[in-house]
Formats: sequence, C-alpha cells, structure tokens
Amino acid sequence: MAVYRLFHELFNHKFGVETVMVDMTDLNAVKRAITSGTKLVHIETPDNPTNGVTDIEEIVKIAHQHGALVSVDNTFASPFNQKPLEYGADFVVEALTKYINGHGDAQGGAIISNDLETMDRIRYEAQVNVGSVISPFNAWQIFRGSVTFPLRMKRINESAQQIAEWLENRDNVTFVSYPGLKSNQGHEIAKKQMKNGYGGIISFGVSSDDKTVECFCAALKVITFAVSLGHDESLIFPQPSYDERIHLYPEQFRNGFIRFSVGLEEPEDLINDLDQALRSVGL
Ligand SMILES: *Cc1c(COP(=O)(O)O)cnc(C)c1O
Repeated sequence: MAVYRLFHELFNHKFGVETVMVDMTDLNAVKRAITSGTKLVHIETPDNPTNGVTDIEEIVKIAHQHGALVSVDNTFASPFNQKPLEYGADFVVEALTKYINGHGDAQGGAIISNDLETMDRIRYEAQVNVGSVISPFNAWQIFRGSVTFPLRMKRINESAQQIAEWLENRDNVTFVSYPGLKSNQGHEIAKKQMKNGYGGIISFGVSSDDKTVECFCAALKVITFAVSLGHDESLIFPQPSYDERIHLYPEQFRNGFIRFSVGLEEPEDLINDLDQALRSVGL
C-alpha cells in the first residue's frame, strides 16, 4: 500500500507522472484503464495486505499489446515461489528486507530484468545519480541471510498452508485470504504461477470491532505484534477499519482485518497461540 502513496502522491502530484489505480485482479478493468499513453503497468501479486492474486501472463499480454512495460512486485511470493520474468514481465522488484534477508535486521531492495541495457540505465540514473546505494553492512547481512532462503521458504510455505487451513475451519474467524486455499479467489491463477508454494502471509478477519482485534493481537505470546513481514519470527499486524486506505480494499476487508506473517516456529505452537488469543477475547 506504500505504492499508493508513492505513485499517487509523489509521482502524480509532485513529478507530474499521471498514475491510475486499478483492481489488477479484474482484467476487464485493466483493459478499460490502459491507453496508448500508458508506459508502465505495475502489479503486486499476491498483494500487500489483502493477498489478491493477479494473472501475470494475462497482464503482460494486455500491456505489451499497448506498448507498455510490466513491473511486478514479487515480495510476498518471493523468487522461491514465483518468477515473473518467466511469464513475460519486464521488471521484478523485490524487497530484500523481507524473505531474502529473512531475519528482519537489514533493509534493501532489488530490481531485476533480462534487459541489460535498461539495467545499465537504472544503475546510472537511479542508483549512481539518485543515490539508492545499500550500505556494505546491510549488503553483507542480506547476502548471509540469503544462503538459507530456500530452506526457510520451504518451511514457511508448509506452515502457512497448515495454519491457513486451520484458521479457515476455526469458529469465529470471519474470513481467511491465502492463495493456497481452494476458497481463494485467485487460487487457480496462483497454482499456475506460484510453482513451489504460496508464501507465508495470511490475511484474516476475526471481528469488525477494532478494539477486539487489537486485544487479540496483544494477547499473542509466541507471535510478535509488529509491522513488517518475511522474518524468521512470526509477526502480526492489524489493519484497522479507520485506516485511510481501507476503502481501496475488496468488500470483505473493509471492516478491518489482520496481516499475519508466518515465521519459522513450530506450526503447532503458532496454532495454539492463535487459539489461546482468540479465546482470551471471547472468540
Ligand atoms: C515491505 C514491502 C516493500 C518495501 O520494502 P522495504 O525494504 O521495507 O522498503 C515493497 N513491497 C512489498 C509488497 C512489501 O511488503
């Protein structure tokens, strides 16, 4: 959702780059919004924070027909599960801060493309001239974290699938959004483009009362009540109904919900923790 501020407020209002927000899971809406002046179509799949799934191949078809490039924010899926360049995307952006580093102790970002000429331009225009240069210590931490990346993702995929299924069957959980669930709007697309698993982020609702949701998050003992995601430890963060951007989300999310990033703990411990915290708020 930071992309909303970046594109809408900074690019649009300060840099004069016209941007439009479109529900990318709705291909007809994308077709209606695209014009001969469209230069770039940017998608995030699964998206932060609702886990909506967008068909990369279909978006690429529409964008390329109109001469526009496609960039994909692959942070939620991670390259272990999804490789957008294989589906024709022109760029991938990845928050190294999350799964690639995996320990929540360093920040970094990457842009990936098959087009070396464009990569050179990005290197000089965005990196050398503007100064998006990572510190050597952060680079070292991320490199070191990346060594265990595939092992961590395998474990996280398995745990998240198990926990999402448990949540879906738990009384008083109002909805669960996870690409690995058959009930998910985007499950068939996710099956096609997420080859090794569905990642570690689960979005779910327990109550439309923000206070109850906050008390539930605070009652957790194993799972940490904190922002960010993709770390070794499980993190949970409520997205309350008074959030200024809640109107942009699909219907079922508009009364508030929770974003849960599954970590490396035993899945049974995480399930027991969720259960006791739900009970502690009478759910
Ligand atoms: C966290 C996040 C980012 C930005 O990462 P930072 O390294 O924290 O700046 C970008 N995209 C998505 C989907 C994210 O979750």
